[in-house]
Amino acid sequence: MDVGVWGCRGSLAAPGPETIRYGGNTSCLDVVLSSGHHLILDAGTGMRPLGVMLDNAGVDEVHVLLTHLHLDHLQGLGFFRPLFRPGVAVHVWGPASPVQSLSDRIAIYLSPPLFPVRLADIPSDVTFHDEPLEAVAIGSATVRAAKVTHQGPTVGYRIEEGGASLVYLPDHEPSLGVTLANHPADWTSGYELACDADVLLHDAQYGDDEYPRHVGWGHSCVEHVVDFAAKANVGNVVLFHHDPYHDDDDLEHLLVQARARWTSAPERVRLACEGMTITLDANGVAFGAQAARA
Ligand SMILES: [Zn+2]
Ligand SMILES: [Zn+2]
Repeated sequence: MDVGVWGCRGSLAAPGPETIRYGGNTSCLDVVLSSGHHLILDAGTGMRPLGVMLDNAGVDEVHVLLTHLHLDHLQGLGFFRPLFRPGVAVHVWGPASPVQSLSDRIAIYLSPPLFPVRLADIPSDVTFHDEPLEAVAIGSATVRAAKVTHQGPTVGYRIEEGGASLVYLPDHEPSLGVTLANHPADWTSGYELACDADVLLHDAQYGDDEYPRHVGWGHSCVEHVVDFAAKANVGNVVLFHHDPYHDDDDLEHLLVQARARWTSAPERVRLACEGMTITLDANGVAFGAQAARA
């Protein structure tokens, strides 16, 4: 599978000269399978330019996998061009709620006064699915979700293809109420989903010094993401969901801290950045940059 990062900012888009190296768009990844299917992880503002690319390429089927419905993971959906093209099949997957269906909750955003077009008037062929807690096949991949600790119904996703595995946990506070280092693995939020993943993209919103002011906000600090990744025995960690108050230099400072904590293989910890590519196949994992955006 070929992964493109179109947005890796958390909470709120943060464009500007201070965030030019790592990007200001909120969460959105495009995962292209060997079968040609597109799995889009979250619908943050990075989904707008991704939609232009997919529209120009004539893509007529996409699967949008939403971790949850906070606006930084949903706002791009209304600006996703394929959504407005008749004949395009848009499958939207997201966390179930005992209160309202997924489509009813998304319609709160896609309706006046927050948005000019009602969800019911969208011209593409939109189908909603609750998160796949049991593995489902989409194209050449197997996709599975698990509920994780955050604010409100939230899931993470694991995508497997050809023996390679990608896990996406952008908003996650596995340390809430526990000390990760000595907490039983099987009782750790997200552990079973992330176990032995080749690549883990994980919430790294805060520096360790910032976390005490944000306990229970649903996010992780450097200590948490590194300890979680080590516990889950993942191959590569990509620090994701950058705080909008962190500029590029702040992020690189967090990377130094993270690498100092993962002493066994510091080079396998990276910062997510817009335009980053990740290829997972039989040859292993390769990181790069999109040619047009490098
Ligand atoms: Zn978020
Ligand atoms: Zn969130």
